Amino acid sequence: MKTCKTCKKTLPLSAFHKDRNLKDGYRNICKQCACQRSRKSWRDKLDATNGLLDVLHSMKHRCYNPRHNSYSRYGGRGIEICEEWLFDENQFYQWAINNGYEKGLQIDRIDNSKGYAPENCRFVTPAQNQHNTDRCVLSDDDIRCIRNLHSNRRKSQRQIAKFFGVSQSVISRICSGKTWKEESLCVTP
Ligand SMILES: [Zn+2]
Repeated sequence: MKTCKTCKKTLPLSAFHKDRNLKDGYRNICKQCACQRSRKSWRDKLDATNGLLDVLHSMKHRCYNPRHNSYSRYGGRGIEICEEWLFDENQFYQWAINNGYEKGLQIDRIDNSKGYAPENCRFVTPAQNQHNTDRCVLSDDDIRCIRNLHSNRRKSQRQIAKFFGVSQSVISRICSGKTWKEESLCVTP
């Protein structure tokens, strides 16, 4: 048993995270308090950055976490974050504030084939971003690949849509022979 320094409850050792640096091998605050503390520090930081912490965090996951839903459209296509933002979040915050960031806006890459860097990014509303994504995300190679997968019946339209990170209706229009440049494909489903 051990007493938590924060909530003062006496709890079994299993309620504490292990910490090899401490004498008895466990942290001085219980798991629950540790969790609350880290949530609070995340919220404080989120407030302090006016939501930018979240923008940066999601950006990192899209680019470097293969388990993220959108990874195939970002990291999976070689989209990266420039080093100054990746290793120094203050540089990112400073750039964002100087470039019109307001809470609720999303970061958008001007050239979809290039990564996240000051010269290729701007802030847009979610609706602008969605339009942009649907319009530009698929290359001619992707279109060929989609039609191939479809005609060989190797994957369902739903699977193809998920893989390319676009809606199923876009895939269905491509498979029915429409070209990417046709206006209908720009419509957000
Ligand atoms: Zn506690």
